[in-house]
Amino acid sequence: MTAKERFLKYVKIDTTSDENSSRFPSTESQLVLLDLLKEELISMGVEASMDKNGYVIGKINSNCESKNKICFISHVDTSPAVSGKVEPKTLVYNGGDILLGENAVISESDNPELKEYIGKEIITSDGSSLLGADDKAGVSEIMTAVEYIVSHKEFLHGEIYIAFTSDEEIGRGVDHFDRESFGADFGFTVDGGKLGEIEYENFNAASFELTVNGNSIHPGSAKNKMKNAIDLFCEFHSMLPFAERPVSTEKYEGFYMASDAEGGVEKFKCKYIIRDHDAKQFENKKSFVYSVIDFLNKKYGEGVFVADIKDNYYNMAEIIRDNYHLIENAEKAMRKAGVEPVIVPIRGGTDGARLSFMGLPCPNLSTGGLNFHSRTEYVPSFALDKMVEVILNIVSEYAR
Ligand SMILES: [Zn+2]
Repeated sequence: MTAKERFLKYVKIDTTSDENSSRFPSTESQLVLLDLLKEELISMGVEASMDKNGYVIGKINSNCESKNKICFISHVDTSPAVSGKVEPKTLVYNGGDILLGENAVISESDNPELKEYIGKEIITSDGSSLLGADDKAGVSEIMTAVEYIVSHKEFLHGEIYIAFTSDEEIGRGVDHFDRESFGADFGFTVDGGKLGEIEYENFNAASFELTVNGNSIHPGSAKNKMKNAIDLFCEFHSMLPFAERPVSTEKYEGFYMASDAEGGVEKFKCKYIIRDHDAKQFENKKSFVYSVIDFLNKKYGEGVFVADIKDNYYNMAEIIRDNYHLIENAEKAMRKAGVEPVIVPIRGGTDGARLSFMGLPCPNLSTGGLNFHSRTEYVPSFALDKMVEVILNIVSEYAR
């Protein structure tokens, strides 16, 4: 099967994850695709199994001298932000906007890369759902590469591990990943965007909930007595740097963001996230929050402002820099496939970032898909084939 054929088959299985579910995987439907992938791997002759948490693990034994144990990982779930009931469409792009129906338009102005795809086939949804290239493009590319490897005995390779995971989109992708029994030493997630992108720098991430303890009193007799938690919250929020919000930052610039708030005069709570690529800046941002709280507590009384900042994940760059062969070989593999590699910072996190800190360095490779988590998500068909080639070239680099 070609990567495109696999892709069209996998996207028809709705695998939307659900952040309100407490089970793992969060939705039963993800297990349907995971089970299918396991069966397909087994029918190709790959040692494959599903563990008790639904992770599908495959292993291909080495057929050469190489001692490298490499892995490729992608996730089966799609973002709950948009419907995952997908009716894929293929079309040859001839320029202009692409009308998908239901007010979904892949416009030339928002998608300047479209001009690279003139005369080429692209795959879209029908406009009522996302497409699921994130990350079924990655799944299809890995599966197609695996099929090639096991059916071409002359193709030399070291030990190869495959992992298909669930619930990446709701941040739980590697919560139950059994690193101990997973045999790979390093590898790649295949979960990125535009063909050629290689990512190994992600945010350091922290979060906290600010609680403002006010003091309610009848407004008529409030003079010098009321501590209105809403007013106090506004004072706190206005002390965070205006220029360091998501709306004013890009590339390597970090930010503070208020994400959810509720409350009244007596008590006000607001959730915040802190992001920064740079470890020192990240620490500075956290200390700054504490210093604002200190300052305000001196003004309004101890315990009026309370927050406990928790780290969520870290920038994998420090781990990947010690394993830089991963980036060099990925670049080499792309160039060999005629794809120009571009290293881009991730303004978020990846499963690979968490895996890197679990002792499995895993930068992220492009899948070729674009406009993830949106009804205008699409993928050029040739990009799927190119990524199969890139994966095979990487395997060859590590077979030396
Ligand atoms: Zn993804």
